[in-house]
Amino acid sequence: MKRYRMLLLLCLLLFSLTGCTRARGPVRCEIFSMDTHITITCYGKEAEAAADAAAQEIERLDRLWSIGVEDSEVNRINRAGSGSLSIETREVLDTALRLYEETEGALDITVLPLMELWGFTSRDPAVPTPEAIQETLSKVGAGRLKLNGPELELEEGQGIDLGAIAKGYASARAASIIAGFDVDGAVLSLGGNIQCVGKKPTNQGRVLWKIGIRRPDDGEGYLGVLTLTDKAVITSGGYERFFEENGQRYHHILDPASGYPADGGLASVTIVSADGALADGLSTACFVMGEERSVKYWRAHAGSFDMILLTDDGRLLVTEPLKEIFTSDMKIEIITKQ
Ligand code: ADP
Ligand code: MG
Repeated sequence: MKRYRMLLLLCLLLFSLTGCTRARGPVRCEIFSMDTHITITCYGKEAEAAADAAAQEIERLDRLWSIGVEDSEVNRINRAGSGSLSIETREVLDTALRLYEETEGALDITVLPLMELWGFTSRDPAVPTPEAIQETLSKVGAGRLKLNGPELELEEGQGIDLGAIAKGYASARAASIIAGFDVDGAVLSLGGNIQCVGKKPTNQGRVLWKIGIRRPDDGEGYLGVLTLTDKAVITSGGYERFFEENGQRYHHILDPASGYPADGGLASVTIVSADGALADGLSTACFVMGEERSVKYWRAHAGSFDMILLTDDGRLLVTEPLKEIFTSDMKIEIITKQ
């Protein structure tokens, strides 16, 4: 009997920690999905229905893609070595494969065997031997995936991991669902990855969103603040998930060229784009590529995204179009189109 009472208490506690609440102004939904804490804040007449629909869509996509969900589409394909893709998976895959080509392999969704080798998919990650890394690297390479219409075929030993791009796709998708309701505006945070819609109603009228960019050192305040709307603002950094061994830090963004955690000289990368999947994929890719390659990539693709780079030695670089909408107490270097 006692055990049941404990269980009931636990359920009540969990229920009070998640779900949607309306505190006078906006509706706020908190869920745990895509391996992270998600908050959806919605303003307007249909805020509740909009937030609810957005949360359900994120949970649906998580069930398709999560490595942690036994029968997710991604797990089924990884186990079988081939399979038929849903429309959404095909769409993320298309973006991922395009970025794989354009970033010369910096974003590679076939890193799964490497992630597993490092133990990032388990509870106790550890540094593998150089031999094991070399051997596992031979299985990595998105260029060897075969796509035939909706059919995806992997090579022996390959596995896909959409972790670098899934949250951005999901937040953009959720945002477009919210925009279909009668709402003034909304902001979604998927573990710090932000997506905003419309404007925020205030006493001074409807205003753009102010998005603070997190400091990688967890220090006080923000790196800076962006003022905008209808964009994804997605940040990647080695500080998000890591372990320590012999005093050395090893983080979860791997360089598919070396098999080791990326060491491109950047502490964090923030991508701003109307395309959420692109923003997420590029936040990871640019972190791997480092300053020089990222700047070169931006110059070749300016217009589709903007970026804020913080280097390991503390320089803050911002692409020119963000000049008017980004403020920071730090000195800013502007990346021009040249
Ligand atoms: P987060 O998901 O922590 O916000 P990212 O968007 O940068 O950060 O994605 C990191 C995740 O992407 C890793 O946890 C792993 O699943 C996957 N990953 C790691 N390195 C790469 C890479 N070079 N290319 C593609 N996916 C990667
Ligand atoms: Mg990413």
